[in-house]
Amino acid sequence: MQVDVAIVGAGLVGASLARALATSGLSLAIVEGAPPPERTQDWDARIYALSPGNVAFLQTLGAWGALDRSRVCPVRAMRIFGDDGRSQIEFSAYDAGVNELAWNVESGELQRALWLLLERQPKLSLVYPARPSSLDVGADAATLRTDAGQSISSRLLVGADGANSWVRREAGFQADARPYGEKGVVANFACERPHRGTALQWFRADGVLAYLPLPGDRISIVWSTADAHAAELMSMPPDEFCARVAQAGAGTLGKLDLLTPPAAFALTHLAVRDIARPRLALIGDAAHVVHPLAGQGVNLGFGDARALAAVLQDRTASRDPGDYSLLRRFERSRAEDILAMRLVTDGLQRLFRARQPWVARLRNLGLNLTDAVPVIKTMLARRAMS
Ligand SMILES: Cc1cc2nc3c(=O)[nH]c(=O)nc-3n(C[C@H](O)[C@H](O)[C@H](O)COP(=O)(O)OP(=O)(O)OC[C@H]3O[C@@H](n4cnc5c(N)ncnc54)[C@H](O)[C@@H]3O)c2cc1C
Repeated sequence: MQVDVAIVGAGLVGASLARALATSGLSLAIVEGAPPPERTQDWDARIYALSPGNVAFLQTLGAWGALDRSRVCPVRAMRIFGDDGRSQIEFSAYDAGVNELAWNVESGELQRALWLLLERQPKLSLVYPARPSSLDVGADAATLRTDAGQSISSRLLVGADGANSWVRREAGFQADARPYGEKGVVANFACERPHRGTALQWFRADGVLAYLPLPGDRISIVWSTADAHAAELMSMPPDEFCARVAQAGAGTLGKLDLLTPPAAFALTHLAVRDIARPRLALIGDAAHVVHPLAGQGVNLGFGDARALAAVLQDRTASRDPGDYSLLRRFERSRAEDILAMRLVTDGLQRLFRARQPWVARLRNLGLNLTDAVPVIKTMLARRAMS
């Protein structure tokens, strides 16, 4: 098979790029190792808080409109607590002059909506379940061979195959991976008291705990915590786990009842030196992995997909999509956002993990000061919403 653009990985980021290129006139192939996601009645424990900018992007792709509205939840306010029991910062959609700060959505539902659109997209070959087994990057094409023996030759090959990217490794991109020694424990709960569309986050001695509002009196949590504590949480009987999560959240939402069993994801920091080469580009977690404390990983990935699609759409029709100068333009347009998000999430993780008393005073003072200066708060909120 010969196409203009081949994408490895139809996760949220790879699928959104393929969809964003639907009107580009380019022929596409997407190679995905897993079967398409099934619809389930249960709530997905992977919940993402999507920025309004990325919701607008998904709207243009037709994916946002395809979601069941009863399963997405607007976030109208956000409160973040320091670890001294007093310090906090609050953001509200009202203060920022917008209707909502973010939208919480199930990973599986969004994945399914995108996949259904890809199935109907002309000039797109869905190659699944399949994994690439070899890669040859030549002057005119990048050629993949899949484990089923299929050959896919493209003028541009995009690695959207997640944190352990095969494309990144096989093409020899330099990556620096550093495990945090932490896991993100996720689970969904029914809560006794209404959350009123407010996301809550506590920087605690035992990690960072976030409550993300879901439709109705439900929440999803992400508790980023040391491996040993994560193992302890995962081994608790459900009642004890619920009580521990409610207590860690200062009883704010009353009693919690488990809706989905907890799952734990290893947390890693990953920085990739270049995300573009002649005929090759990396997007999403293949290009950067950040700590989930800011809930920005997939948002950053959608930013990559938006930027790469824009560069490919804006080129003159005759221009080779794998041309390095074009791909460098994409790389440059993403450099600042990726670096800023890496520094902020990594810096916060280190700042709140440090146990020295002076660091504790400094970080809590930082929260209070930021809360007291409306200009900085509005600036932070606007940046997070783009
Ligand atoms: C606990 C936790 C909580 C998080 N919470 C948030 C949040 O609230 N908000 C947010 O924005 N981000 C969050 N993130 C980050 C987010 O999960 C990732 O940034 C996002 O999933 C990256 O999407 P992706 O499409 O790049 O990669 P992935 O989701 O990893 O998708 C990669 C795709 O490639 C396929 N694939 C992999 N290897 C191959 C191969 N060799 N051949 C073929 N196919 C392959 C996979 O099957 C998959 O479909 C969180 C992360 C964690 C761990």
